[in-house]
Amino acid sequence: MTKAHLLAIDQGTTSTRAMVFEQHGSILSLQQRELPQIYPHPGWVEHAPIRIWKDCIETIRGAIKQSGVALNSIAGIGITNQRETTILWDRTTGEPIHNAIVWQDRRTAEHCRQLKAKGLEKMVVDKTGLLLDPYFSATKIAWLLDHVDGARDRAESGDLAFGTIDCYLLWRLTSGASHATDATNASRTMLFDIHTQSWDEDLTAHLGIPNSILPDVLDNTAEFGWTNPELLGRSIPIRSMIGDQQAAAVGQACFTPGMIKSTYGTGCFTLFNTGEIPVRSSNRLLTTIAYRMDNKPAYGLEGSIFIAGAAIQWLRDGLGIITDASETESLARSADPESNVYLVPAFTGLGAPYWDSRARASIFGLSRGTGRPEIARAALEAIGYQTRDLFEAMTEDVTTSPTTLRVDGGLTKNDWAMQFLSDILSIPVERPTITETTALGAAYLTGLQAGLYKDANEIAKKWQKGSTFQPSMTEEMRNTCYNGWQDSIRRTRAE
Ligand code: ADP
Repeated sequence: MTKAHLLAIDQGTTSTRAMVFEQHGSILSLQQRELPQIYPHPGWVEHAPIRIWKDCIETIRGAIKQSGVALNSIAGIGITNQRETTILWDRTTGEPIHNAIVWQDRRTAEHCRQLKAKGLEKMVVDKTGLLLDPYFSATKIAWLLDHVDGARDRAESGDLAFGTIDCYLLWRLTSGASHATDATNASRTMLFDIHTQSWDEDLTAHLGIPNSILPDVLDNTAEFGWTNPELLGRSIPIRSMIGDQQAAAVGQACFTPGMIKSTYGTGCFTLFNTGEIPVRSSNRLLTTIAYRMDNKPAYGLEGSIFIAGAAIQWLRDGLGIITDASETESLARSADPESNVYLVPAFTGLGAPYWDSRARASIFGLSRGTGRPEIARAALEAIGYQTRDLFEAMTEDVTTSPTTLRVDGGLTKNDWAMQFLSDILSIPVERPTITETTALGAAYLTGLQAGLYKDANEIAKKWQKGSTFQPSMTEEMRNTCYNGWQDSIRRTRAE
């Protein structure tokens, strides 16, 4: 029998990647294309759907070629994607009616305020687990229906389809044969009831969205469809779809309630598996679907921090005090241990648990002795402190504290930052050998659906620890440091 391989597409905010994995999870090939960002007005962010599709199919072809594997050895395709980003297209021609409106886009802030004024927020939180915010897809769909000529009429006559990126790519890969999404992506639209696992007709009615445009919602492992044979020279099944943060949790094998992962890239996303229970947060964290298999959802509490690695980029591009992100490690090690500098990186406001969009970044505790090392250290420490803020909120919501944290993303290469994270959380921090956990999560689910793995347990056993960082700070020191951070947050907040 030929060896089986798995193909994963990771369609992210700034790039599109395709990877071929071996059955046991190692990477054979990787192709990547940068995705241009379109900013038509301040606060608006768009992507060109056709560009996303082209990059997707070209990176798939490139990754297959680079890997040298035979097409008939590919057991299936898994798609993971930037969540919430919204596309409407014509069901007959496949033409998008407008650019994709990206998750970061704030054009529907006023619409959200109006919906809040009508008292809709409680219904949104109760049914969807989210907050009433432009971040999610629903008000973006409403905007397209209201602002693109003829869109509402076409939608009402059944001529238009809505999808997040996963759904749009599936539709293109199957040449229009499948119009489906998965439960994790559906859970970020603000139209999906995470308790009944169905589109909610009250919400669609309040937003004026015709139900006919919505895709079918399937498990994360499902028979989503087969690629048109003309695209790759042979038809390949799409066997998994999952939103990027949830895919990272699967790649980190966070299958047991109480397990938690944080991904540290530009921003930071923490997902806490709460199992069968959709925990409602009193601290403005999101309740979301972590994954769904055999029609059984596992829920998660999610916290998003807008700025993690982006603060390091600012040291490089804004301040010019480093030329490469990795320099922060030796700078932090050489910083004066007595210095008390705090950097609150609220460059675009503060995310969870504060959700303060008017706050702006600040630095406290500068003295004549402060230099590059102390500033670099404060930027790395801010990543640990912000994670501690999320942990405090989660612990209050679920009343149990996580016992270890699994981390991934570009910033986790920084050993000093990982040690500080462990110190300030007072739990071990584990970094896996494979840090491409998002694509790996999609590949694992594909393998599961293809019958290459027996169950989630088998995937969990594949997870390999690279390094563990053990807490070594005294409790007194930890409290002093964190109190200083909380004080800096108080002084930074605007709302
Ligand atoms: P994204 O997927 O959001 O583009 P990545 O996971 O590729 O992000 O991580 C890149 C981010 O990590 C950048 O913001 C970069 O500044 C930061 N980063 C990368 N390496 C290091 C390092 N050694 N120390 C500190 N920050 C780093």
